[in-house]
Amino acid sequence: MIVLFGKPGAGKGTQAPRLAGALGVPALATGDVLRAAVRDGTPLGKAAKAFMDRGDLVPDDVILGVLAETLAAPAFERGAVLDGVVRTIPQAEGLNKALDGLGRSLDAVVFFDIADEELVRRISARTVCNVCQTPYTGRAPGEQCDRQTPSDGGQLVRRTDDEPDAVRTRLAVFREQTAPVLAWYERHGDRVVRVNAIGTVDEVTGRVMAALGR
Ligand code: AMP
Repeated sequence: MIVLFGKPGAGKGTQAPRLAGALGVPALATGDVLRAAVRDGTPLGKAAKAFMDRGDLVPDDVILGVLAETLAAPAFERGAVLDGVVRTIPQAEGLNKALDGLGRSLDAVVFFDIADEELVRRISARTVCNVCQTPYTGRAPGEQCDRQTPSDGGQLVRRTDDEPDAVRTRLAVFREQTAPVLAWYERHGDRVVRVNAIGTVDEVTGRVMAALGR
């Protein structure tokens, strides 16, 4: 099990499917699960929407519920790439406990290292597909998603939490609640690797694979 860790806009959502493909395991992004739930108006979406819109974290019990349900699915038996799944110390503890219960373990936490100025630039140029959630940089809202063949018919939209007020909140939340998780993993003895997240998409994929020794 690999955990991708880093600020919003660091490239976790771009790298997760590539790394998952290379490692032959599925990817799980709690942000994607929650956005799909909001779009579909499910009870999970209703519980999460207000937190997400203002850039706050969704409560730990909600996230740990999503995690427990997903990790127990047969597709996740051989591991997974987890994107943005661990954002608080209780979530890190809950994930390790859930993995213990399933007889599995964490292989590595990959920290995508990047400065705030670069994030603000990326996020202001970001759109995502309203169907498959693929993030794009520098493509306009309303354009067609071309990730899937055949096309999933998705259109690129701006995320409501990519507007400046919510981005400021998300960066503050990262500093206060998420950044301390890295030190928790180090103290706990889990393997943490740091990767420079500035570069082309291929360069960053290569750095992560090299850091993982693959
Ligand atoms: P992301 O797509 O990873 O940037 O997530 C978008 C939003 O979903 C976050 O700003 C949070 O509101 C919520 N979210 C996603 N993952 C988590 C998590 N592990 N813990 C708490 N909130 C989360």
